[in-house]
Amino acid sequence: EKTRHILERNDKKAYEEAQKRLKMAEEDQRKMLPELRKQSRWEYLSKREQEKLEDLEAEIVDEEYLFSSNTLTEREKKDLEYKKQIRDLARDYKKAGAKEKEERKNRYYMPEEIRNKVRLDIGVEGGGEQGRWEEARVATATLQFGAREERERRIKEEKEKYQLVLEEEEMIDFVSTAMTMKGTLSEKVGTDLSQAEKQKQSIQEVRRSLPVFPYREDLLSAIKDHQILVIEGETGSGKTTQIPQYLFEDGYTKGGMKIGCTQPRRVAAMSVSARVAQEMGVKLGNEVGYSIRFEDCTSERTVLKYMTDGMLLREFLTEPDLASYRPRFSVLISNIASATLDTERFSCFFDDAPVFRIPGRRFPVDIYYTKAPEADYLDACVVSVLQIHVTQPPGDVLVFLTGQEEIEACCELLQERCRRLGSKISELIVLPIYANLPSDMQAKIFNPTPPGARKVVVATNIAETSLTIDGIIYVIDPGFCKQKSYNARTGMESLIVTPCSRASANQRAGRAGRVAAGKCFRLYTAWAFKHEMEETTVPEIQRTNLGNVVLLLKSLGINDLIHFDFMDPPPHETLVLALEQLYALGALNHLGELTKLGRRMAELPVDPMLSKMILASEQYKCSEEVLTIAAMLSVNNSIFYRPKDKVVHADNARMNFVVPGGDHLVLLNVYTQWVESGYSTQWCFENFIQFRSMKRARDVREQLEGLMDRIEVEVCSANGDIVPIRKAVTAGYFYHTAHLSKGGYKTVKHQQTVYVHPNSSLFEEQPRWLIYHELVFTTKEFMRQVIEIDSSWLLEVAPHYYKSKE
Ligand code: ADP
Repeated sequence: EKTRHILERNDKKAYEEAQKRLKMAEEDQRKMLPELRKQSRWEYLSKREQEKLEDLEAEIVDEEYLFSSNTLTEREKKDLEYKKQIRDLARDYKKAGAKEKEERKNRYYMPEEIRNKVRLDIGVEGGGEQGRWEEARVATATLQFGAREERERRIKEEKEKYQLVLEEEEMIDFVSTAMTMKGTLSEKVGTDLSQAEKQKQSIQEVRRSLPVFPYREDLLSAIKDHQILVIEGETGSGKTTQIPQYLFEDGYTKGGMKIGCTQPRRVAAMSVSARVAQEMGVKLGNEVGYSIRFEDCTSERTVLKYMTDGMLLREFLTEPDLASYRPRFSVLISNIASATLDTERFSCFFDDAPVFRIPGRRFPVDIYYTKAPEADYLDACVVSVLQIHVTQPPGDVLVFLTGQEEIEACCELLQERCRRLGSKISELIVLPIYANLPSDMQAKIFNPTPPGARKVVVATNIAETSLTIDGIIYVIDPGFCKQKSYNARTGMESLIVTPCSRASANQRAGRAGRVAAGKCFRLYTAWAFKHEMEETTVPEIQRTNLGNVVLLLKSLGINDLIHFDFMDPPPHETLVLALEQLYALGALNHLGELTKLGRRMAELPVDPMLSKMILASEQYKCSEEVLTIAAMLSVNNSIFYRPKDKVVHADNARMNFVVPGGDHLVLLNVYTQWVESGYSTQWCFENFIQFRSMKRARDVREQLEGLMDRIEVEVCSANGDIVPIRKAVTAGYFYHTAHLSKGGYKTVKHQQTVYVHPNSSLFEEQPRWLIYHELVFTTKEFMRQVIEIDSSWLLEVAPHYYKSKE
């Protein structure tokens, strides 16, 4: 019923076809049910499923009572029958659990043919939860036991095929729960071009082949008619790369006007602008450029400017009316088609702005789950990639991991495994992509894959919506992402690896259906997907420290933030806490108005605490050192390099940089020595320091130093005295003070127990008072980058904060 309902809303042909398939599937199932019961080999029931089973049993008891009193309709009777069947199956399966576990080892298959035979096209948004659970259960059962001989034959065949390549215990069991993300195109009617054909196309042809192209004129006239327009289209339909070009071609930039396009990520801003420059045949930084924090690749000539949204906010500071984007200022909001709800909210928020829909192109994606949770998802990714590589037809693979460290480890493992397998497998091109990757390396992921080879892109969630890589057919999704989370009560911000939302998971799966029908392998169970993941991701503004935003808004003259019309209002206490913190830092006065110090702080594109630290270095006469520390802190813990085969060497090298006082001073020492080496690559290599990170730190430092002039801070050095440096750090980070107490460290503000990170130079010293740069939550709450302080400094640097505490 549900399937029909969903299908009826779509086109007729697909409906008829699905009906046929559905009928076949139903017949198959009817035939198989007794068979299934006999074999009773379901996979393990999880705790939650057992509960469900109990619920089901209770329901049956109730309904049987009604049945006996003859008050059930025919339909309900049938339902009852069905429920009983499910119950019986589940009971059997419960019994068979132990045996099953033993046999699990021997089972590996991708139940393709079988699955196709019985596929229930229930779509991602099936019906009620109970219904979906049952449907999924029945389908899984059907897959596992239906055509058992057929399956065993296949397993044998497959095994023989690649036993030579992969050890059996190295494989992962995937099951399909017969979930298919519906496409707008079927596998067969696909009109999109194959990778090889695409390569032959000229850039202009590619542009014309994008979904947005047929709507060029309509879009331009809609933009002419409406000052605010919401544009909705699938990821990859050309919203970001094409629409700004259409405007440019239509003369919008005549007379020195600019088109700005904001991006949620630095990488996206860089890579998209590079692509657009290429399409327009200009050098990046000339007509087309990008601007991200610490990196401005634009010039006088730039008319098409891609930037992070933070940078647009900064432009308001120097040009509050954004005059260079007028005279007829327009706002275009582009949104991904699958997030329809968002589209409506955007439209609503902008006083019912019209919505322009670009019809999407999407192929169906089959979704697989693991049978049991994977203990080590990194390892599971590596195994899955190889599994796909040896068993699946051509097509590139996209793997989603949470951050740089994981991505690098995964790439290393993959390369290592490929080296070992040598000529037994065809070429596998492994490419990482994350925010700190140098841009020439980033560009590589877009290179077409040579014939005979397979490309694997290992990415953070930037590849979820912000970047579109053509040629991806397979997606591997461990189901995690790194998320900023903010505890308004303690005022602590931390980066935590958490399960991603169902919306994210579906976005990820969708990446497999851009050029042809694809497959998504989820490294978690179907149950986890339904019960452990949140529906949508909480907007970032609601889980971040608002210090920066508040400071910027205040400097734009928006004083009443409590009543500010946010689209997703942040929690009230977060806002209050941000105001309180800015007051403690001296950026706001007791009336909540921006102080002179606050105005200067807003000029620096860094967090309020970091900018306070930099500004305090003026008073303590150590800005040289503090600028270096600030720059080193901004490159994200990626200074030290620790290759697996040289752990001891690397750790020794690191020890050699240790100086008394704490990690900030160690970082300063590393940088100073690097400068003395003449910014040498060789020196980095010998000392296990990442050259790339150092180069970035140098860039950041230069940028910050350039800004010192504007905020009138004289750059001078403390000449080896570390007290002023530590005082300046304290002046910015007194909120992050912790003191030694019985069970470890306790934060001063909330008496929360925290620990010094084992990587820290102060790990063994355990000074009485210290300040940490950030708190990360992994196995424990760890303080990363800590510096020793004297408690008497606290009153000196933050009198109105510590006085009020007394
Ligand atoms: P949307 O904004 O609608 O998600 P885009 O404009 O980002 O879509 O992408 C349109 C097309 O441009 C896609 O086919 C994508 O692969 C291609 N593309 C985008 N960035 C790059 C790049 N840096 N290199 C090569 N191709 C790119």
